[in-house]
Amino acid sequence: MQLSLSHLGYLPDSPKMLTLLPGDADGLPDLIPFYLRQNCLRMPRDGKGEDGFSARFPSPYNLLRGKLTLDGGTPPLYQGELRRISSRWGSLWQADFSSFKTPGSYQIETDWQISPPFAIREGVYDRIIAGYLAFLRAQRCGCAVFGVHDACHLDDGILDTDGSPLPAAGGWHDAGDFRKWLAFTLYHIDALLTLRERVGQDLERGNIAADLLLDEVSWGNAFFHRMIDSRGQVYEDVAGGSSPEGSAFTYERDWWFENHPGCYGDASDNRWTDNVPHSGDERRIRTACNPLVQWAFVHVQARASRHLSSPQAERCLELARLAAAFGRRRGHDNRTLFLAAELRGNLELLASGDTSIDVSALIASARELMRRQATFSEGLSGYFTEADATDGFRSIAFAADPALTLLRFWELRAMLRDTPVAEQARQAVFYYIENYLLADCGSNPFSLTPYGVYHDPPHRDRQLFRDAGNGHGVRTFMHPFNAQGIVHGTSSVFMSHAHLLARAAALLGQPAWRGPAERLLHWCLGHNALNRSLFSGIGYRQPVGYSYRIPQIPEAMMTGFIGKPDDSPYLEESTAIEWNTLEYWSIPFLQAAQAACWLRT
Ligand SMILES: [Zn+2]
Repeated sequence: MQLSLSHLGYLPDSPKMLTLLPGDADGLPDLIPFYLRQNCLRMPRDGKGEDGFSARFPSPYNLLRGKLTLDGGTPPLYQGELRRISSRWGSLWQADFSSFKTPGSYQIETDWQISPPFAIREGVYDRIIAGYLAFLRAQRCGCAVFGVHDACHLDDGILDTDGSPLPAAGGWHDAGDFRKWLAFTLYHIDALLTLRERVGQDLERGNIAADLLLDEVSWGNAFFHRMIDSRGQVYEDVAGGSSPEGSAFTYERDWWFENHPGCYGDASDNRWTDNVPHSGDERRIRTACNPLVQWAFVHVQARASRHLSSPQAERCLELARLAAAFGRRRGHDNRTLFLAAELRGNLELLASGDTSIDVSALIASARELMRRQATFSEGLSGYFTEADATDGFRSIAFAADPALTLLRFWELRAMLRDTPVAEQARQAVFYYIENYLLADCGSNPFSLTPYGVYHDPPHRDRQLFRDAGNGHGVRTFMHPFNAQGIVHGTSSVFMSHAHLLARAAALLGQPAWRGPAERLLHWCLGHNALNRSLFSGIGYRQPVGYSYRIPQIPEAMMTGFIGKPDDSPYLEESTAIEWNTLEYWSIPFLQAAQAACWLRT
């Protein structure tokens, strides 16, 4: 039995939910009293302990023996009742203690179990930001990281075309392996700049040098600026790996799955090297052009140009423009992910003062993105679809990108001089949140937002798709029976939604969206179906992380729960570790850190 809540804690005004996970529910009453008290100071229980042992640590070392008595000890600071609920995930007992707002350090106690300790205080989520910065530093590649690894991969890498060397040491390992995917690691620049804009001087006051943010940006950029050729084409990854020997995988057909690149890359380049260039064990640089990488590069370099000083700033803008020109010449297949990435890249160029941007083309792509939003009067609506409404837009790593792009479009409305289309973008974000995210989050007892809508659900007989209306299905977690056999944890989806909700709450004046953003953070912080924290350095009761060469990465975040066929959550709790739920990964953390930024008041 577990008493589950956010292990990190809450802001005074946060929603605060307590969930008792019964294990075996037999014999439990429908109402269970709970008591909130000072951390560490257990309440008195009945039943006499063995003589000669202290009351604080009674024989036979069973601290939960007996029933709670309310006499004799310090009265609880708050009390309430957990109520039995029936959910599609079984019977649970839940209570809402949001009305308790007094700052302090607490635990909640019942007859059967005690919660992990937690705080209520202003700035409580800053711990996530501090953790993210420590994680990112530990993920540095091409240098020694004290206590984590010696200098690595100084000999990256060789081009996959002709094997010629290109100095591409540096950057960050993306996950619990050594691969350097640009599609994912470029977004650290975005996150670091959001931290700089939102947290700024508070870091300094907390004895974290504010320069550290720009140092980290420059660290990443020293690598990213090598990953673009003289024509402006950005390379896709270093050490992503090739298709497994003997397989018939092709880049065109098998590289993407659920808007996630890199799907057939094996782990053949996920290894230590001798750090000596030209010795023959250098890792490969994938020179393929991925439009997402191309436009993410434009987006983050244009943004960086507004933060860095000369001459770095000019270099970032120059490369952003070069990459944008290449991206426009090359074009793409117009899938929703690429459309949003191109729009975001052009928006950031515009914000950086690039006067060559074709604003009417930019507005036309925003209109096209908004045309891809479902507009049903019943059932789930407001979600984005792929081109021609062939399917719902679903993405493992970039779930909120279309909505975040339109929010940015609205934010930059003064530069667009088209008030009606900016207003439409604001409405689009509003519909996405209200008619899709929040409309579905009541389908489960932890207020989780949906993974995605399916127009033609695969393997319907073997896995549950909840009714989304209009003949469509929806799941909270990715469908496990799928063409590629990939079942990916969903922390990245929840954390991108948390980021969007927190950011939109602040920018669009919708304070009611903060609570749902916090509930998603709380899920990853331990208020979940197993009372386990998905941050390796925050909270208690972590599962065993999956990391291939460095078993423990400090302050990392895990890919998180996958869904069973019936769309209920599963997380590996044994030491038979597998990547699906347990691998450390950058994407959920960089989204969580940004959510934390926007939840500061
Ligand atoms: Zn490395």
